[in-house]
Amino acid sequence: TATQETREFQAEVKKMLDIVIHSLYTEREIFLRELISNAADALEKFRHQKVASQGEEIFDDHLPLEIKIKVDQEKHTLTITDTGIGMDRGELEHNLGTIAHSGSRTFLANLTENQRQDTQLIGQFGVGFYAAFMAADKVRVQSRSFRPDDAGHEWVSDGTGTYTIGPCPGIRRGTRIILHLKEDAKEFADEERIKQIIRRYSSFVPFPIKVAEEPVNTVQAIWTRNKSEIKEEEYQEFYKYIANAFDEPLARLHFSADAPLAVKALLFFPKENVERLGFGRLEPGVNLYCQRVLIEQHSKNILPEWLRFVKGVIDSEDLPLNISRQALQDSALVAKINRVISKRLLKYLAELAKNEPETYEKFWHSFGMFLKEGAISDFNYRKELAGLLRFESSKTEPGKLTSLAEYVGRMAEAQKDIYYISGPSREAVETGPYLEAFKSRDLEVLYTLDPMDDFALNHIGEFEEHKLVSADRDDLDLGELGHEQEAERQDAAQAAKETLPPEEAKELTAWIKEVLGEKVKEVKASKRLTDSPAMVVNPDGFLTSSMERVMRASGQ
Ligand code: ADP
Ligand code: MG
Repeated sequence: TATQETREFQAEVKKMLDIVIHSLYTEREIFLRELISNAADALEKFRHQKVASQGEEIFDDHLPLEIKIKVDQEKHTLTITDTGIGMDRGELEHNLGTIAHSGSRTFLANLTENQRQDTQLIGQFGVGFYAAFMAADKVRVQSRSFRPDDAGHEWVSDGTGTYTIGPCPGIRRGTRIILHLKEDAKEFADEERIKQIIRRYSSFVPFPIKVAEEPVNTVQAIWTRNKSEIKEEEYQEFYKYIANAFDEPLARLHFSADAPLAVKALLFFPKENVERLGFGRLEPGVNLYCQRVLIEQHSKNILPEWLRFVKGVIDSEDLPLNISRQALQDSALVAKINRVISKRLLKYLAELAKNEPETYEKFWHSFGMFLKEGAISDFNYRKELAGLLRFESSKTEPGKLTSLAEYVGRMAEAQKDIYYISGPSREAVETGPYLEAFKSRDLEVLYTLDPMDDFALNHIGEFEEHKLVSADRDDLDLGELGHEQEAERQDAAQAAKETLPPEEAKELTAWIKEVLGEKVKEVKASKRLTDSPAMVVNPDGFLTSSMERVMRASGQ
């Protein structure tokens, strides 16, 4: 249709706009970062499209790939123009009239009663295009797609309930966004202010950003440069750009390899785990490049799912540039890169744990849940992941953590297995009956205070040939273990004399079983207790009690 139409925003968009427009958001300059990042995405898509379409005709093929920004102080407008892939009429409607964007979707899904706090989070998660309405009371988007037989269209809205869309003949390929600045946002019609914002947030955009024809950013693919030539601040700036973050990363890994495949990677661990903060499931954070050309943003294929908290880029010149989504999924090469980099990341974490234990501990507190998820869901890295797990134990101080390797180093001479015990808190475990048998024998027990711990240890099964054994198994037999000292042996012999004679024990357990009925499977006399009269143990030797709680809660 070549006509002008007025249309309603999707309800979710209205809600989003309402928040954006009414937010007293202090860092509203991020709207520019969002629009520039969209322009850069559109340019990346164009570059990729051009490679993939291999010689097919493209509209305005000669245009340089760049972003231009213009201000008009009299009209109070700010205009951002890109020569990217552009949008046709349908794309304008779909992309700007519905919530197609997962970041905004997550934001919406997690809105709480506390709007003030939510608006603080806009900056962390990005509301994408709609951020334009933080600074403008009217936004015009003119766009012309790369397809030769298309035509230009203009989309206009004041960000309330509706937008109009109609023809816009005679424009060049790409997208121009014209912001009519709000009364209190006129500061953004100033070139110096705009340059300052670009330097702050967008200096790593891989296309020239020009203000009044002057490039403001330095275009470079930092991951292809030599480590020794990169300044610390450059790494940090790049992280902020790639992760859409405001803070600094916790740690980073920059490496390149030529064999078994040519790959360069610059990967970051953030400080904050937003998924744990309840902000929905993270999207993968790594972009896949081939010789600096973006192949897939937020690639689902290039790292295992449980590494979705890692941010950064992976660039491999071995990949074919015009590889399709489907081919990426099936590609043996991508799978190989995935394995190589995952191993490298795990090795890096092991080194971090060794060389910078405090940093590793911070990492563990934020992201340990992902390593446990990996131990549970991914058979390939069980060994490496086992070495990275951390627990409190009966030999650590409260709040202090230990590793399986350290545990093994402290094991009693004849001890073969590694013991763990689950509970809701350290106190609960230490006052419960399960620990008694271990305490009296001076055997260390790991405390699995998070139900995920039990699942992880259960899946891992063993560590350095020591079985991982839950202390609430009913067939647990510690025997003489830990009673090497003669004095202790005598104590134990004394204790044994004090236990009930077998006949009486039989009568007692039968009576208890009768009273408890179906609530228990079996009642047995035990040598494991020293102070407590009784304890509940786990008969099938597979699910620990905290695992059962989780299964019950999830209805399985
Ligand atoms: P996101 O960038 O995360 O997808 P946005 O809300 O920022 O979400 O943008 C929504 C969509 O609008 C984009 O995915 C893209 O398809 C389209 N879009 C926005 N700006 C441009 C642009 N300058 N050129 C082409 N398409 C764009
Ligand atoms: Mg965007």
